[in-house]
Amino acid sequence: MEEIKYQSVLTCPKCSKTQIEKFSDVDCCHLSFKCRSCGFVMEPKQDGTCALCNYGTVKCPATQKDGNGICKCCKK
Ligand SMILES: [Zn+2]
Ligand SMILES: [Zn+2]
Repeated sequence: MEEIKYQSVLTCPKCSKTQIEKFSDVDCCHLSFKCRSCGFVMEPKQDGTCALCNYGTVKCPATQKDGNGICKCCKK
């Protein structure tokens, strides 16, 4: 069984700066991350993909477990 990763490198879409963020299983798909460089807030998109899947090098825990790479953690 593959190990779930709880740390990701997020890339800001505005200024292209990267920052390391840690997260947990709990509510990870609802998290938003503020760029420490320009202040842009990386948050879940309306299509239901979370901030981690959109901006991070590592998918959210739910998507990692699912294994198909499609984020649907925020779709209920
Ligand atoms: Zn930025
Ligand atoms: Zn996700």
